[in-house]
Amino acid sequence: MHWDLARLSDECDAQLRAIRAQRVAPAIARGDVARELERRYPFDGPHGIGEVAADVIALLERGNLHTAHPRYFGLFNPGVRFSSVVADLISASINPQIGAWFHSPAGVEIEEHTLRFLLRAFGFDPRTSAAHFTSGGSEANLTATLAAFGSVYPETRRQGVRGLDRQPVLLVSSEAHHAFFKIARHMGLGDEAVRTVPADGRFRMRVDALREAVERDKPFMVVATAGTTAGGAIDPLEEVAGVCAEHGIWLHVDAAWGGAAILSPRLKQHLKGIEHADSITCDAHKWLGVAMGAGMFFTRRPEALAAFEIDASYVPRGDELDLYRSSLQWSRRFIGLKLFLALAELGADGIAKQLDHQAAMADLLRDGLRNEGWEIVNDSPFPLVCFRREGVDVAELVRRIVAGGDHWISHAVLGGGIGVARACITNHETAEEDVASLLRALRGEKVNGQSGGDADRNPAEE
Ligand SMILES: *Cc1c(COP(=O)(O)O)cnc(C)c1O
Repeated sequence: MHWDLARLSDECDAQLRAIRAQRVAPAIARGDVARELERRYPFDGPHGIGEVAADVIALLERGNLHTAHPRYFGLFNPGVRFSSVVADLISASINPQIGAWFHSPAGVEIEEHTLRFLLRAFGFDPRTSAAHFTSGGSEANLTATLAAFGSVYPETRRQGVRGLDRQPVLLVSSEAHHAFFKIARHMGLGDEAVRTVPADGRFRMRVDALREAVERDKPFMVVATAGTTAGGAIDPLEEVAGVCAEHGIWLHVDAAWGGAAILSPRLKQHLKGIEHADSITCDAHKWLGVAMGAGMFFTRRPEALAAFEIDASYVPRGDELDLYRSSLQWSRRFIGLKLFLALAELGADGIAKQLDHQAAMADLLRDGLRNEGWEIVNDSPFPLVCFRREGVDVAELVRRIVAGGDHWISHAVLGGGIGVARACITNHETAEEDVASLLRALRGEKVNGQSGGDADRNPAEE
């Protein structure tokens, strides 16, 4: 090794620590980086890796929306704990192959241990349930859909969808994540396989409408969302589970972001009913503060993972923990180490404290916004706040805040037509001063000596 890993690690750590002083969103034009790369890296000869790494860090400092910034009120991408950096360093150095038990008994069992802890938290019996890490929520949702589909239509394993005499249907709420449309295309089912159940005034799946849809469409799966992406709504899990149980339908709970709340004794009440799910998606790389990508798939129906069963003569036949035979991936990186290290470092209490802190910061933001005449449009117990005010063009407001460089919020549409500004407390280091700073910027006041209103600052020139 020609370059000091400790130095790189120090540099990454320093980068994380210094982030508060930096601009949140990049002010960079399309093509800027490409031109620089063309000029400096024609790949015509070797460079010292230390020099290249420093270069890449500098490029990312300026050309990246800093999700690890405490004033990134963003899209579920968390502030990253240093334990994730350590985990990725370890897993890249040792490069364990997690796809087969014999290849990395220690790696596989570190993941299994971590997942058993979460299975218990979700109310699943670890002895009769199964779980594995995924690249993210999309893969976990695809895994659930394939498992449900395969268990309802076993004939498709040989014949694919042409073996069916009817259009298979899965039901999601109108506020669900769009991954399910991609999944339906991916599986050869098409967008029409995804039918949306209307949501109520709190953006939660309407159970009366679900009942009607179940009777009409005879779905192979119902997806309830626990923490919708735009508004943090939680579908009524108990009631949805009741409908699914009555009709024997696979219930998948997409808790990609909100599922983390299961680790907070205070917040987990909002996930009541999740224990009835046949499968759950939860991303560690969202609210649990772990670096991307670290999704998780949990199921109480491990027999349905037969959808992935395969016999490959070139892999030594091993153990029931051979994940290449029960999941989508084959070569599999050591995804779970990041979550293992976070849990080991902080303990479940430490994680819970952090989740509660983020919820408290969102409460503070809600109160502040209400005091200043904003309408809070969503009704989520989780740290996601959607707001608007009569006479304010929220899309324009969001553009102004983002261009100001000191905060990042987004624009979202709830209920198919309500435009809102959206601020999520994604970072465990977001503090009262950051919430106050966002409120000041929304008022159009100067923040940190810069205008909250103008895009006149270009850090590339600094
Ligand atoms: C983020 C999200 C997904 C997709 O997960 P990725 O990790 O981005 O693939 C799916 N469902 C919900 C509710 C999400 O918030």
